[in-house]
Amino acid sequence: MAQNQAYDRIRANLDRVEMRILRACARAQRDRDEVTLVAVTKTRTLGEVIAAHGSSLRHFGENRVEDLEAKLPHLRQSLGQDLPLWHMIGHIQSRKAARVVAAADLIHSVDSMRLARRLDRFAQEAERVVPVLLQCNVSGEVAKYGFDAATPLAIDALEAELADLESLTHLDVRGIMTMAPIVTDPEDARPVFVRLREVRDRLRDALPFSDWQDLSMGMTDDFEVAIEEGATLVRIGRAIFGPRNE
Ligand SMILES: *Cc1c(COP(=O)(O)O)cnc(C)c1O
Repeated sequence: MAQNQAYDRIRANLDRVEMRILRACARAQRDRDEVTLVAVTKTRTLGEVIAAHGSSLRHFGENRVEDLEAKLPHLRQSLGQDLPLWHMIGHIQSRKAARVVAAADLIHSVDSMRLARRLDRFAQEAERVVPVLLQCNVSGEVAKYGFDAATPLAIDALEAELADLESLTHLDVRGIMTMAPIVTDPEDARPVFVRLREVRDRLRDALPFSDWQDLSMGMTDDFEVAIEEGATLVRIGRAIFGPRNE
């Protein structure tokens, strides 16, 4: 597709997404500034990413480090100084932890203490402090990844398990993230988002070494409900770029 066609389509989609974000913020009496839109560029071409950047998006998310690494050098060349921030949102294999530290600006998907320790070690070697979120499974459905936070007992255990994060001084723990189950009615995701916010509030009380500010929740099908329930980061792909060929 011609670059200017891609640009027009993405800009029109983005206008609609932006309007929906504004309305959700208004319903929840929140400032638009409290919500960061992360455009999820997995499977998208470089041209689409550049078009999105041209429509003033500055936060992009990928779920595989290979895809991030493939896009970065080209973007550095075509965007010059005005580089976006990259969010790593997918599962991280431990042997790729160093590459994620090198490529990502914020990691949403820290899903075990083992991975946290590894990321901290590589961040130390790189002389960086890396902002991270902890991926939590709050829905109780059998999810592949994430800290178990689905029951009161699990949350008690989680508080104890996460106490060691304080000693990982090269990670800046900003909050938590979840993947809600796929639902047809976005209202069905609401209890999951409420639960995530409650887990965040518990961790904030129990582990005051961080402010636990961020809640990364909500995607194309449910981001408005997520914003109403306190999301500070929404991760949106299809509503901006169209359906994925998967
Ligand atoms: C793909 C993906 C998204 C975006 O999904 P859409 O339905 O395209 O909005 C958000 N978060 C994660 C972790 C993803 O892998």
